[in-house]
Amino acid sequence: MSKSLQSTLRPDVEDAGTQFIPFNRFCPIGTEFAYVQQAIDQLHVSGDGPFTRKCHRILEELLGVPKVLLTTSCTHALEMAALLLEIQPGDEVIVPSFTFVSTVNAFVLRGARPVFADIRPDTLNLNEALLEQLISPKTKTIIPVHYAGVSCQMEAITGISERHGLTVIEDNAHGLIGRYRGRPLGTFGAMSTLSFHETKNFACGEGGALVINDPRYIDRAEIIREKGTNRSRFFRGQIDKYTWVDVGSSYLPSDILAAILYAQLEARDEVQAARSRIWEYYDVHLKPWASGQGVGLPIVPEGCEHPFHMYYLLMPTLESRQALIAHLKTRNILSVFHYLPLHLSEMGRRFGGRPGDCPVTESVSDRLVRLPFYNSLAEPEQARIIEALRSFQP
Ligand SMILES: *Cc1c(COP(=O)(O)O)cnc(C)c1O
Repeated sequence: MSKSLQSTLRPDVEDAGTQFIPFNRFCPIGTEFAYVQQAIDQLHVSGDGPFTRKCHRILEELLGVPKVLLTTSCTHALEMAALLLEIQPGDEVIVPSFTFVSTVNAFVLRGARPVFADIRPDTLNLNEALLEQLISPKTKTIIPVHYAGVSCQMEAITGISERHGLTVIEDNAHGLIGRYRGRPLGTFGAMSTLSFHETKNFACGEGGALVINDPRYIDRAEIIREKGTNRSRFFRGQIDKYTWVDVGSSYLPSDILAAILYAQLEARDEVQAARSRIWEYYDVHLKPWASGQGVGLPIVPEGCEHPFHMYYLLMPTLESRQALIAHLKTRNILSVFHYLPLHLSEMGRRFGGRPGDCPVTESVSDRLVRLPFYNSLAEPEQARIIEALRSFQP
């Protein structure tokens, strides 16, 4: 490990007693500036330059898929998926209510009607047992989200989708490097999407990727990403001029962002080692306390290898959750809740969402609290967080 990498992943914590502990912090590897400099020196700062190609190669090898295309965000990768599936007004998409707004909004933008599914109480993932009853003749796609990078029950979900002729798109914003029964997350659906937003394991500020498993989508994905033109084929020398051939937009990031992302992806083993240490430290030290307090901790079922994306607590009630967040705040520690149920949002209600539609989502959303989690979170800081939790009187 390089000196600079070591120092960003394991900083000296001089003031562990009182220093503010944020919930999230961008953690540079140390090689970002050199790569950005290189991108500038190469005089290729628009999209699909040398660093974008390096990122594509790393991700294609890591996942074992025929095509990965960097995008400006996971949201945009989801929008591309909706365009590629030719989602039409009135089509239905099945999504968990317990997810980020983009999982569903990308499809609503094309006129789809979201059908909200409740989650499993153990992994907080789409409950596959409820899927069949939500399918109608208008259903086009199912969008599982691997919450915290812990896999959904993918055999059951792909089995149901095949029986009904539906396409599966995995929102894998949390799950890069995660596996289910040995197979990488993001390789079960026809396509999947990744996020490189600041809050994710690997970050370039804002960024994402569309992962294509079904090769039938590759050609059109390249066109949609390049303003509806066949410019990608032109750059490969496959045609002698490029032109407008389809609908599309501009979904490719600058090579400067790809340079930052490349620095992060290249250091993936060190990043994951740091994150697994942080996750295990929380888990080992919180288990005895949690069981005595009626507090739930993340459940990782057999066969799921998760990428240590987050650590959360499930408090007994909304009141105890709010009190805990306030208590940690008095200790200068920032913890956050996660995902208000989409079916109860202003937009979700316009699609007919009502209280009681997704009872597990509603209960979990009231009680979940995420603890600080970033690559450079050091052990003395974590010890302080655990000490603060132990001193909490609900
Ligand atoms: C972060 C996130 C997104 C959005 O990612 P962006 O890159 O910010 O667009 C989508 N879905 C899930 C589940 C996320 O956590």
